[in-house]
Amino acid sequence: MKILDIINKDVRFENENKKVTVAVRVLYLMIFVAFVLDLLYAGPVVFRHHYSGILFFLLTLGVLFVNTYYSHTKVVLWFFLIYVFSWSIFMIPLVGWSAGMQNYIIFVLMMVFFGSFDKLGLKILLSALVLLSRFAVIFLFGGTKPMDEISWLTDKLLQTTNITAVFGGIIYLSYTFSKEKQAEDNKLARYNDRLQKEANTDRLTGLYNRRRAEEYLEELISVESEDPVSVAIGDIDFFKKVNDSYGHDVGDEVLKAIAGIMTDTLRNDTFIARWGGEEFLMVFPICNGDQASIALSRLRHAINEAVINSGGHEIKITMTFGLAEYDFSGSFENTIKDADDKLYRGKNEGRNCIVF
Ligand code: GH3
Ligand code: MG
Ligand code: MG
Repeated sequence: MKILDIINKDVRFENENKKVTVAVRVLYLMIFVAFVLDLLYAGPVVFRHHYSGILFFLLTLGVLFVNTYYSHTKVVLWFFLIYVFSWSIFMIPLVGWSAGMQNYIIFVLMMVFFGSFDKLGLKILLSALVLLSRFAVIFLFGGTKPMDEISWLTDKLLQTTNITAVFGGIIYLSYTFSKEKQAEDNKLARYNDRLQKEANTDRLTGLYNRRRAEEYLEELISVESEDPVSVAIGDIDFFKKVNDSYGHDVGDEVLKAIAGIMTDTLRNDTFIARWGGEEFLMVFPICNGDQASIALSRLRHAINEAVINSGGHEIKITMTFGLAEYDFSGSFENTIKDADDKLYRGKNEGRNCIVF
């Protein structure tokens, strides 16, 4: 649609708030339509007295509309505030108080907040001014009769036009500016989610990383539950050989494959993290060592059975595990050290085993 293209046309200066300028354009158009309708209804009566003023405001409206394509947002905004205010005050004595011209001042108030004034102090000052002026308008013009006799029907037509324009403008402004705000909020929430996820995840395997594992253990302790917790550290046997024989990239693929087998084999409530290079930490909540040992046996078998295809090679892997129960000492460090010592023992005792 052509008119939409014209309204949405870019602002002259980059990095400026286009939304505010576009909103001002829309409101100018609404004011123009309402103005023309008002003149059609009441024009024959009022035009005779004030044609110069009416022409001035019509012309200024056109000039200011065109100006939105050339000026900075702030200038556009200030002109808009001044225009709407003076236009509505100019019109009140012409068409009378009951035509509702004073309601357009609400546009000024809304634009003070939705517009691009970034200082809260200025917004408060301007809204206070608008409020005061609105009171002044009541005292000066409240209940003013139109300059010339206006029929009941004309009065109702004026009211309908102006109320529709003011309500339409308020709905338009609220919709445009809240829509963007919601979209921004959602985007920010999604972005935060992603950052959080990235901060917790090991890039290669997609498992939790060591940072998250330590945080998780802290959280687990802070609950102060009396349920048993078991911790295991698993280390791939002779992984250096995989790298040396097939290259680092294949080594990476093997790490990913092992991570996949761990996730597939262990229960969902088992916390799995990449603890170091080819070392993985598993936390089994509400599991004593014997129960965790059964789960680990399943995992060890699954890894023994697996044939990992990578780089045209069929690779067989084994893993050694050290398993320890949390001793409720208030720190997980001892438990992890215990599991680590057992892992070391397992390596010395021939690997591919679980030491508990
Ligand atoms: P052991 O059975 O005693 O554990 O022998 P190992 O060869 O697995 O142990 P070692 O600690 O000597 O070697 C671990 C190797 O893991 C060395 C290192 O290059 C490799 N490694 C660590 N992180 C990564 C990684 O992200 N990608 C790849 N491809 N290799 C890694
Ligand atoms: Mg190893
Ligand atoms: Mg190692």
